Amino acid sequence: MQSKERINKWKIELHGLHMKLFSIFLITILGIVLSFIIVQTCSLRKQMFRDLEDDLKSTAQSISAVYSSNAYMSSIRTVINSGEYRVRTMMEDGKILIDTNDLSFYIHWPDITCDASTVSRLLNASETGYFVSLQEDPEQVQWVLYGQVLANWDGNKEILLITKNTQNMIEKMKRQVYLLIKVGLVIMAAAFFVCWFVSKIYLKPIEEITKRAASLSKGDYSVVFPKGSYKEIDTLSDVLNQSVEQFASYEQMRRDMIASLSHDMRTPLTMIKAYAEMIQTISGENREKRNEHLSVIIQQSDNLSAFITATLDLSKLQSGTAELHFEKYMLDRQVSTILERIRVCDQDGHEFQAFLEKDCQIEADYSRIEQILTNLLSNAMKYGKDPIEIHVRRKDGNILLDIIDHGDGIPEDKLHLIWTRYYMVNPYGKDSAGAGVGLSIVKEIAELHNLSYGVKSPNGYGGWFWFRFPEAQ
Ligand code: ADP
Repeated sequence: MQSKERINKWKIELHGLHMKLFSIFLITILGIVLSFIIVQTCSLRKQMFRDLEDDLKSTAQSISAVYSSNAYMSSIRTVINSGEYRVRTMMEDGKILIDTNDLSFYIHWPDITCDASTVSRLLNASETGYFVSLQEDPEQVQWVLYGQVLANWDGNKEILLITKNTQNMIEKMKRQVYLLIKVGLVIMAAAFFVCWFVSKIYLKPIEEITKRAASLSKGDYSVVFPKGSYKEIDTLSDVLNQSVEQFASYEQMRRDMIASLSHDMRTPLTMIKAYAEMIQTISGENREKRNEHLSVIIQQSDNLSAFITATLDLSKLQSGTAELHFEKYMLDRQVSTILERIRVCDQDGHEFQAFLEKDCQIEADYSRIEQILTNLLSNAMKYGKDPIEIHVRRKDGNILLDIIDHGDGIPEDKLHLIWTRYYMVNPYGKDSAGAGVGLSIVKEIAELHNLSYGVKSPNGYGGWFWFRFPEAQ
């Protein structure tokens, strides 16, 4: 069982990023080292052949320089006795004049093709007055043959041939290639470890992020994704940290929603049930009491129905299925109409101060803007203090709407949250009368209209909600 797990772990690691990075690094380095060895070997071989040619050429020139002097024969002997070279002079018609075999008992002219016709063909083909050719004897030893004209006897040329085998050169080259391979192997071994550790180091932040993401998936919203390694990981961490904040706020919203739903639906339902029971047991025969209890039931049913309608309306707006009917109309007149209606129903006699510039025309969905106005005015009445100011004015091609109250306002750090569904600043205090849906509906409507909007709560004022509509012509 355990060995199966180990095999699986290895399989995962083989397909992992670490293994991939490691193999890419390693293959690249191996490629570079191998190409280096191949290129070096080829250029080494070329260079050695060139050196060998130069060597033969300079030895031949040292012999030809003393051709007509007494030192001629002794220079040939010295060259032969060095053991490295074989020397022969011959006439172009094939007659051999001096030969290694005659001058040394141990050293022999090799068995290579250098008869009169071959030599004269090579010389005639050369533009330089000499030739260099590579020959192989029956034992497959390679000989570099150098030939040049020593003298011309009435059209019959005397030719100097000097040759040397490549064995020494090949041995030397082999030693150098072995050395290169050894160095290459050391580099590759070092590269193996460096690549392993470098790829591990590069992957460390990803492993760390994966570990923390696993905690996040278990519902730990306190995780912070680490930064400070490299740019891409920092960006990923930023995105993940923002997502964690979002998840945490959704989670909070979910909890608030459950709390709010249970409160907002259960309270009216409990009251409806309690008053219905009271009618059944106490006030059934007493007409006056019964009517009183029935009106509570009706009031609570209305609250419940309003809450459900608002929640459904918000879902409709958020899902994008709400249709808007745009029309041109005067915002100042809409505000006056709504204020009149509110004043008629307002039992607490709130003080409204309207500063309405005339004929402020906008293009919007009348009933949705009415929703914004009634929501904000009823919030000002619920959470703020009098006087409640409403300003409608024209500025720079826009129509500005401000609804201001003089209550305690909204704390600075909560301002951005009040647009969130089910959010209440004091859910268990004075705000519990609402459901936390009103402002999210306002926000959705404003965004569907592409309006600029906002809220502030400056010193000396309560809530100050503002909207900017483009003026319609
Ligand atoms: P509700 O539908 O319950 O009234 P809203 O979404 O309209 O909820 O408002 C959300 C919260 O914003 C309220 O619970 C309240 O705490 C705060 N709020 C809204 N308007 C004001 C205001 N004028 N003054 C102070 N607080 C406000």
